[in-house]
Amino acid sequence: MKRLDAAGRVVLLVMVAMSLGCYPSESPETETVSGPPRDDSLTFRYFGAAGWEMSAITEASGDTVVVLVDPYLTRAKYGSPDSWDPTDTRPSYTRADTLFSDVDVIDAQIDQADFILVQHAHPDHVMDVPYIAHRTGAVVIGHETTINIMRAYGVPDIQLITVRGGEDYDFGDVSIRVIPSLHSPLSDKRYYQSRVVEQGATRPLRISQLVEGGSLMFLVRIAGHDVVTMGSMNFIERQIEGLRPDIALIGAAPSHLEIYEYTPRLMRALGFPEVVMPTHADNFQAPYGSTIAYRTEWVEAFSAEVREASPDSRLIIPRHLEPIRLFAR
Ligand SMILES: [Zn+2]
Repeated sequence: MKRLDAAGRVVLLVMVAMSLGCYPSESPETETVSGPPRDDSLTFRYFGAAGWEMSAITEASGDTVVVLVDPYLTRAKYGSPDSWDPTDTRPSYTRADTLFSDVDVIDAQIDQADFILVQHAHPDHVMDVPYIAHRTGAVVIGHETTINIMRAYGVPDIQLITVRGGEDYDFGDVSIRVIPSLHSPLSDKRYYQSRVVEQGATRPLRISQLVEGGSLMFLVRIAGHDVVTMGSMNFIERQIEGLRPDIALIGAAPSHLEIYEYTPRLMRALGFPEVVMPTHADNFQAPYGSTIAYRTEWVEAFSAEVREASPDSRLIIPRHLEPIRLFAR
């Protein structure tokens, strides 16, 4: 990784291939460019919920390596009707129903994936992973429940790596540290889910069977960057203390307000990352392009916390599916 100390600080140029919409980044280091990725760039795309794509051209081979995190593009109508777009004519689902991936949306967005990292196994994290794994041949890394869901959908064992948290695996172009974590403190801190999906589960699984199964974060080392990911609005401070990512994807939905000093503790433990991007703070029950697909007020409130806790961090607000290019110089 190319992060340097104060004497030789990496300047991250943020190259946003498309507009950041109503959240222009205002730093003088920001450039807006079009054109293909450079061979030293790391490109992010936000899928919504906790879903991301990171892609980079590898130094050794010149090939592109693609890492997906909790890719969930279907954005189905389940859960709370309050979040449904009244103009959305798609079917809605109850917890007794089975969700099916929106393969048209996925096929239009995802051609290649080498790794799929799954932070927990709720539907908005795991639901599209079997289809994407079949389509791309990507290796899926997740805890036992995630992996048993993959097996239920016929993803071959050669594509499955089961982890419990604490592993730090080298894959050549990419290395991935698995970080034990905690789920968001939903329901006024009363949320707790201890169920797992056992080996031998068979498809189709109902929404109610897609249980958390434990929560993970990841540290992804790729293209000279260290990226910390979050899938929930919680963390174990001692598990992240001392990590020095230059890019942090931070869970930003309001449940983080249940946590003591959430944003200041995170920023301090992670060494005040150079780039912070909020995640899991959109309305993932509304399709792409819906007028209610974002949660602007959530993101604005979280952004204010970051600006106060880590004023030197660059805050980038992602828009669905729009590439964000970062490179070190
Ligand atoms: Zn969840």
